Amino acid sequence: MEKLLSDCVNFARRLVQTPSMPHEERPLADLIAAELHALQFDEVWLDEIGNVNGRLYGQDRSLPALVLNSHLDHVDPGDPTLWPTPPFAAEIVDGRIVGRGTADIKGPLAVQVYAMAGLKREGERPLRDVVFSGVVQEEIGGAGAQFWVEHLDYDVALVVLGEPSDNNIALGHRGILQMWLKLHGRSVHASVAEKGRNPNYKLADFLLALREQKSRLGVHPRLGATSIAPTIVEVDTKSPNVTPAWTRVLLDVRTAVESPRSLKTFVSELVGDWPHEITDAWCAPGTPLADSDERIYGFDTPPESEEVVKAKAAIDAGMGRVAELFNYQFATDGRHFVPYGIPIIGYSPAEEDQAHIAGESISIAKMGEALRGYVQLLREF
Ligand SMILES: [Zn+2]
Repeated sequence: MEKLLSDCVNFARRLVQTPSMPHEERPLADLIAAELHALQFDEVWLDEIGNVNGRLYGQDRSLPALVLNSHLDHVDPGDPTLWPTPPFAAEIVDGRIVGRGTADIKGPLAVQVYAMAGLKREGERPLRDVVFSGVVQEEIGGAGAQFWVEHLDYDVALVVLGEPSDNNIALGHRGILQMWLKLHGRSVHASVAEKGRNPNYKLADFLLALREQKSRLGVHPRLGATSIAPTIVEVDTKSPNVTPAWTRVLLDVRTAVESPRSLKTFVSELVGDWPHEITDAWCAPGTPLADSDERIYGFDTPPESEEVVKAKAAIDAGMGRVAELFNYQFATDGRHFVPYGIPIIGYSPAEEDQAHIAGESISIAKMGEALRGYVQLLREF
């Protein structure tokens, strides 16, 4: 196990040293494919969108496969001077690998690959086929995961996401919707502001009302309350001496109970009769938010389901301690698999608070614990 962990850490560091922003994942996919070949996976392939896949044959190949999923991309490191060590150096400091993508998600990715390799090194086979699925573009919407699930030509028993879970087991998260609220006004020279209609004041009223009333939004029994957060604010003018013709705010909503229509109604009520538009931030500019009553979903795997009970028993046995069941705060590619009826859990050595921060890091000891959990999962599930 010690040799397995040191090989795994070495691989994780090489992954971090190969930057892979969304749409620029190809060199990383090639590096992973070469590693899977070297580790003698039974099948290794890239698909048309650039996802990298590797399969280990199971003892019973007629069973639906176990899929270990991690994404290949990461967010921008930002200002490198805010980092304790260069973001792509993958230096080891106090038992942790430091660098962009260590926690989200290259450390966990390396653990998934080396758990598969570890079983093979022991001369064992997993119970069923295990497929490593490395997907592109997770950080910008999940086109890679969508492509993977739409083109599946084998049955899947369970997808295990490598998204940060601190070696506990995640069973779901809320869905995500992002909308623009645009408030119209009348633009004038700032010296005669009283002659115009400045939408910034309306925005202030709206934001105060939102802060007070957001608790009216629905609560899901397992996934919790709906959150709605104003993030980006923009106005039409770049001139400091002109009052804006419009101002807009992006509202980021996380929910497992609300629909686009119910959210639109909620926001419109807060705005009142001031002229405004509500548009879908993920569609072409100006596309109205759909009048759909379909519930916005993430994923929500029941704790009592057979897959969770079996996976948890194996993971607990492998780690030699009891993993807790919890839900993610952030969204994952798991939501793309829900319409296909594929059960999903998250299991990963990374800590949630390390994702997307300067100085991002992962504990090598926790990677070792996760290796043991994953190897046992492959044996038993
Ligand atoms: Zn991630």
